[in-house]
This record gives sequence, C-alpha cells and structure tokens, in this order.
Amino acid sequence: MAQAQLDISLAALKANWRALDSRSAAGVQTGATVKANGYGLGAGHVAHALASAGARRFFVAMAEEGTAVRAAIGPDLPIHVYGGHMEGDARLISEAKLTPMLNSAEQLARHFEALPGHPFGIQLDTGMNRLGMEPAEWEAVAAIALGQGPKLIMSHLACADEPQHPMNAQQLAEFKALTDGAGVPRSLAATGGVLLGRDYHFDITRPGIGLYGGQPFAGAQPVVRLSIPVIQIRDVMAGETVGYGNSFTATRDMRLATIAAGYADGIQRALSGRATLWAGDVPCPLVGRVSMDLLTIDVSAVEGELERLDLLGPHQGVDDLADVIGTIGYEILTGLGHRYARRYI
Ligand SMILES: *Cc1c(COP(=O)(O)O)cnc(C)c1O
Repeated sequence: MAQAQLDISLAALKANWRALDSRSAAGVQTGATVKANGYGLGAGHVAHALASAGARRFFVAMAEEGTAVRAAIGPDLPIHVYGGHMEGDARLISEAKLTPMLNSAEQLARHFEALPGHPFGIQLDTGMNRLGMEPAEWEAVAAIALGQGPKLIMSHLACADEPQHPMNAQQLAEFKALTDGAGVPRSLAATGGVLLGRDYHFDITRPGIGLYGGQPFAGAQPVVRLSIPVIQIRDVMAGETVGYGNSFTATRDMRLATIAAGYADGIQRALSGRATLWAGDVPCPLVGRVSMDLLTIDVSAVEGELERLDLLGPHQGVDDLADVIGTIGYEILTGLGHRYARRYI
C-alpha cells in the first residue's frame, strides 16, 4: 500500500493533558482546545481520549466543529465556541448544546433573541484586538449580560509564548480590571498562559498545542509519527538531475528513494531541498522539489532493506520540521493531509 501512515499516540496526548493539568492548582479546571479538527488529528478521537483522561470542558473555534466533539464526549460536558454566535448558528448551537463565547453586543443581542435561556459565555478583548468585546463595549452591556448568567468570561493572550513580554502582565491587569467581582468563572490561559504560572490560571485553562506535543510546552511528549512508504529505489550517477525543474544535480553517485507523499498531503513545497527524513536513526536529505504525491530522498547512507522513511517521529517533531521553513508546529499539525492512513494508538 502506498498510503503514508500517520500514527497518533492517544497515550501521549493524555499524558500531555495531565502534565499541563498538574501545572495549575487543584481548584483550577484544565479544559482542552480541540478546534481545527483537534489540531488536524481528528477531533472526535482526541476529545474522547481527553475526556477519558479527565478533561471536563472543551473549546472549538466555530459551531460547525462542535458537532463531532459533542458526538465523541456525550451530552453533558460543556463545549465553548470561540467565534461566538454567528448568524444562522442557532440551530447548531441548540442541537449540539454548544456554549458560544459572545464577542460583541451584536452577538449578545442575536443570542438572547434566538436562544433565550441557552448557556453562553463572554469573550473580552484585553489588547490582542482579535476577538472579544472592547472595554467600553463591555461596560455598556455588562449589567445586561451578567444578569443572564454567563457560564464563563474569557480573554486571550497575544504574547504568552514569550514569558518576559510586558504584554502578558498588561493583559492580566486589564482582564482583572474588567472582570473582578463579576462572580463568573474566568479563563485567560491557553498553553502559553498555563506555563506563565498561577496568576494567569483563574478558574479554567484551555490549552491546545501543548496537548498535541507542540511548543511552547517544552515538556510535551510527541504525539504524531508520519511514516512514508518507499515506492522505488534507484542509483544515479554524479551529474544526473532529479525531479521537476532539474532543481537538484547529484554531486556524486548516490542512491535515491522515491516515497509516497507530497504537497497534496500537507508536506509544503517550501521544504524542497531542505527537509530531512529518517530511516530509523539515519538522517536522509530530501533532494529536489516536493511534488504533489512524491518526494525524492537521498538514502545513500542507509544499509540494507528500506521500506519507509519518517518525516515526523522521534528524531524530528512538528516544531523541528516547522523551523526548517520558518513556520510553527501549529501549522504543520493542522496542515496534515487527508490521504494518510491514520492509526490511533
Ligand atoms: C487556539 C486558542 C487556544 C488554544 O491555544 P494554544 O496556544 O494552542 O494552547 C485558546 N484560546 C483561544 C481563544 C484560541 O484561539
């Protein structure tokens, strides 16, 4: 079979959740962000595993993502929607029992009108200027909103992966100023915020990337392994060219493996000529261009049989691969393609 194998360790995922949970005090509830299909790994599988590890609250980006999570975790645990209550979402929010985090006075009005009495939360902007009500807007609607009993008030940190950044303390102070005395559970910390320490934890944390083995959680266990089968091996002589555009010329006699994955699988074309794959413990450079379904790898250093090469695994995590092309582990994970044979371990 030519399908690459994506192994997803639910054991590592659960261990990462427990490790992040142990960073906050016993009274702080550690939730789980499972947006973007569980950071590309399968929202249903991921949410089910995290619930079994002890997660009691889930977060998605948009209402459509809530359905799969609801099916996986059963009817009782809350699922919050960062994008809030969008036009046309009422039925989905009601059927999947979602808790929209209302981002504006407009969303507040929409929610109260469409689904009176249905649980909701509030998202405030404390300086990131992405989602949430501005302080003045919140001041105008706070009495009405609080009168309806929000389940959670949250905000999001812009620079939590840089512990020394003054923005963290600034947003913390702003969040307190806006919410002290509200009498509603509060959440400020994603993965980075959990690692900033207890001042940032409030009542509920909502880590994402750290669960999936990514930075800034340096202690995370790797969750994914991507292993790509060899279709063909050939010997080329010094001076021969390889792949589209003749972009690689062999500098010596070498042995090349053609393997079955490419940019259609989320292996970005920008990795052309730059990535390293691994045959067990032997590093093997990618040569020439990444094409849609195939990669060409210099396997001259490999002795004996060769059936598969790892792009992600014990020698190269999502952040290592991200560094090669100046992106972040989040983008590598969420870009994982749909042609892989996924195996949950
Ligand atoms: C994505 C997201 C999270 C999770 O962030 P990580 O950095 O992956 O832990 C938490 N809160 C909000 C608002 C988000 O958009």
